[in-house]
Amino acid sequence: MKLAILSRNSRLYSTRRLIEAGRLRGHAVRVLDPLRCYVRIAPGGLAIHYKGRPLKDFDAVIPRIGTHSAFYGTAVLRQFEMMGTYVPNPSDAVLRARDKLRSLQLLATAGLDMPVTVFGDNPDDTDDLITMLGEPPHVIKLNEGSQGTGVVLAEKRSASRSVIEAFRGLYANFLVQEYVAEAQGADLRCFVVGGRVVAAMRREAAAGEFRANLHRGGTASPVVLSEAEETTAVRAASVLGLNVAGVDLLRSARGPLVLEVNASPGLEGIEAATGQDVAALIIAYIEGQIATG
Ligand code: ADP
Repeated sequence: MKLAILSRNSRLYSTRRLIEAGRLRGHAVRVLDPLRCYVRIAPGGLAIHYKGRPLKDFDAVIPRIGTHSAFYGTAVLRQFEMMGTYVPNPSDAVLRARDKLRSLQLLATAGLDMPVTVFGDNPDDTDDLITMLGEPPHVIKLNEGSQGTGVVLAEKRSASRSVIEAFRGLYANFLVQEYVAEAQGADLRCFVVGGRVVAAMRREAAAGEFRANLHRGGTASPVVLSEAEETTAVRAASVLGLNVAGVDLLRSARGPLVLEVNASPGLEGIEAATGQDVAALIIAYIEGQIATG
């Protein structure tokens, strides 16, 4: 196969591993910086150029689109789709996953459980908004944050109100959630490929921290998921339309809660924690999809 990875940086661990796994399995693999792809749109005249040359004949394009280039990156990805290239995660699904509010609305409609979440715009409504959520502690998070930045724990109602006001003052989009204390500062990262969980790890927050992100000093270990956790992870990816996804769950008294679904989940933490060759599993999945047309 002729594969392309849409990634801003070919030296990133995940990008390098996908290149390596693709080549080991006998494919031609090329990394394309989405911001260097430029496109032509016309009926019957779609094209993508890269550094002065047309891009064509790729069998599959694997998006690894970061938060900063999401709008442009997904437009390029969509162009590949319109030109008939197979993509494991379509542009619409990547955009859906990037927006936490939209994802949670879709997941809730599909009946998947999550920490109760509220959002609101007008300062006059803050008190009732907090009442709709329930008793503190609360977690206030930026809608488009990642790696735990912009995720704040407020122990008291007055603290929630202050953080909400501060975020509003910065014109940031945010959501407010019930704090799931039973999770005890740990979450589960379930790596879903093609409708099954191929690797899972439990991340535990560093002492004095409630966010389990590895970038925040959390530690990871392999974990065996319950049947309910596995089903929840697979359904969450499927509801958003992602074939490759990192689904984060919290263990709670009422069962697994979906925290978020990541469309470009990192490979480093999960491969190190579980010893699984997740990159090869992604490439193998794409091979299967292309073979069956
Ligand atoms: P990001 O996308 O920035 O990683 P998350 O929503 O995943 O943001 O939150 C980061 C971490 O904070 C999670 O991995 C989890 O450990 C913790 N966390 C987030 N929301 C809650 C919550 N409602 N209750 C308990 N812990 C939470």
